[in-house]
Amino acid sequence: MKIIQIINGHVNVILGINSELSDYRIENACKKCSISHNEDGKFTNTCLKRNGGCGCPLNAKTSSKNAECPKRIWFNETIDFDKLKEYEQKK
Ligand code: SF4
Repeated sequence: MKIIQIINGHVNVILGINSELSDYRIENACKKCSISHNEDGKFTNTCLKRNGGCGCPLNAKTSSKNAECPKRIWFNETIDFDKLKEYEQKK
């Protein structure tokens, strides 16, 4: 994620901007993606680097309109449910 997107994402969280978009991405993609879950299977709200993610906090990342999921499971306002399923089956 580019520095400008990181700043933008954190500002959006503080101001509540794009919260619906963030909720949509988190509820439908990130919470169903194993990359954001720890070894106990708990959702961490982070795209965990040790699981192959980017290391970003998800509330900020998903609040930035131009941010992209590192696995391309979501982008813009689209979620690729087939890609999510495919990724989870490959693990
Ligand atoms: S890889 Fe994509 S869907 Fe999975 S936790 Fe990271 S941002 Fe969310």
